[in-house]
Amino acid sequence: THFGFRDVPTGEKQKLVGQVFSSVARNYDLMNDLMSMGIHRVWKRYFVGTCQVKRGDRVLDLAGGTGDIALLLRDRVGDTGSIVLGDINGAMLRTGRDRMTDMGKVAGFEYVQMNAEKLPFPDGSFDLVTIAFGLRNVTDKDAALREMHRVLKVGGQARVLEFSEVKAEWFKPIYDFHSFQVLPRLGKLFANDADSYQYLAESIRKHPPQDELKSMMQAAGFGRCDYRNLSAGIVAIHTGYKV
Ligand code: SAM
Repeated sequence: THFGFRDVPTGEKQKLVGQVFSSVARNYDLMNDLMSMGIHRVWKRYFVGTCQVKRGDRVLDLAGGTGDIALLLRDRVGDTGSIVLGDINGAMLRTGRDRMTDMGKVAGFEYVQMNAEKLPFPDGSFDLVTIAFGLRNVTDKDAALREMHRVLKVGGQARVLEFSEVKAEWFKPIYDFHSFQVLPRLGKLFANDADSYQYLAESIRKHPPQDELKSMMQAAGFGRCDYRNLSAGIVAIHTGYKV
């Protein structure tokens, strides 16, 4: 099978994304380290370290997967805060919960299987909503952004960490080679799953670049929208507020 999503109808996309993440769940953490040479850890640290959040806050981490972001957020909200880790995929969610439990991280976490396009929470439920490396997998991104806005409290912040458009010309050929030659081979070698990693590379290219995503956030109702590139735009952090 080939996970190019260019021609598949949207319902199909959700099914394929489901297959991709069910099949990578077990090797997900190892593959992240391999594919990014560990740099994803730095991006995630920076992302969480610069969020608007304080002790006692209630946070929703969407597409939370195996819990990297939730784990970092824990230190920021403290014992009085709480984090809901939401993901559409049961296998990813279970991998995350097992991993956190094995580390002794239990109090203050909830795990909820949910679709980012339709959140099972009332308006104004959270101080902060994050989504890291998740938005590009969501079929209806506009719906997801509107839902993130809806469940935020007034004054709350939404933050998106996602692959974006590389801005340094000299780096583009290297990046392309890595995405389309190295990535699928790493996937084949370490996870016996070249297709899923081919899909990941393609989904990165199809994701709206910096300014387009910023406009989408504005259209979803966010105020004071802005973004910041990390590593020459390999990833970008978008920020918006419910004003
Ligand atoms: N945030 C984690 C991280 O940074 O390591 C996991 C990112 S992983 C690349 C993407 C996650 O998005 C997967 O766990 C997948 O199941 C989830 N996902 C895909 N579509 C989704 C949707 N519509 N709603 C919620 N989660 C979704």
